[in-house]
Amino acid sequence: MNNVEQPIQAKLLDLAAVDAELTRITHRRKVLPEQQEVERFEAERTSRKDAAVKVEIQLDDLDRDIRKLETEVDAVRKRELRDRGMLENSSVGAKQLSELQHELGSLERRRNALEDDLLEVMERREAAVADHEHSGANLTKAEQDLVEAQRRRDDALADLDVAAQRCAGDREKLLTAFPAELLSVYDKQRTQHGVGAALLQARRCGACRIELDRGEIARIAKAAPDAVLRCPECGAIMVRTKQSGL
Ligand SMILES: [Zn+2]
Repeated sequence: MNNVEQPIQAKLLDLAAVDAELTRITHRRKVLPEQQEVERFEAERTSRKDAAVKVEIQLDDLDRDIRKLETEVDAVRKRELRDRGMLENSSVGAKQLSELQHELGSLERRRNALEDDLLEVMERREAAVADHEHSGANLTKAEQDLVEAQRRRDDALADLDVAAQRCAGDREKLLTAFPAELLSVYDKQRTQHGVGAALLQARRCGACRIELDRGEIARIAKAAPDAVLRCPECGAIMVRTKQSGL
């Protein structure tokens, strides 16, 4: 490939730094802790919602039981009223009188049992109402937590957007410095291996960190300052500066 003046080659390091930052931003977006928190609160809200629905179903069941018991108590009362009415009727015979008294006795026992059941169900309903309020408050709290987590996530994403835009702007400005051929080699290398260009320092390629052998170092030392060198291991453009220590 054509030779490129050393100061322009050195600018590849700035471009590589911007690209590394863009890669960090992309990675950060994928593993954003704020997003993980949103997902945690979403799961929390779902479980709170399930709990609230469960209590609502329980309440509905208890209400239905109460209505059923009240209807039964009502039917027993009507029957008692009817029997008493018949008792007051003077034309009732001795046999029927005894039967009516007997029935009134069992009706009263039946009503007492039903009223005891009703009382017990009503107590359970009171407890369920308290559970309902509690689960409703829990759900509200989980929903608030989720909204706050979503806002933190959106803020974090907005910050990343700003950083990415800044990098894209910097990249745009840097690109004007490079010949098309050099840029094409850099971009291809970056796409395939992650790093397009890196500083050669302490005998190591800055991209793959492999230490070059003596023969390679000797060849590099003899190369023209504007020759474009590629790492024999990873292919990255090896940029030489004063820091390279050649
Ligand atoms: Zn390398």
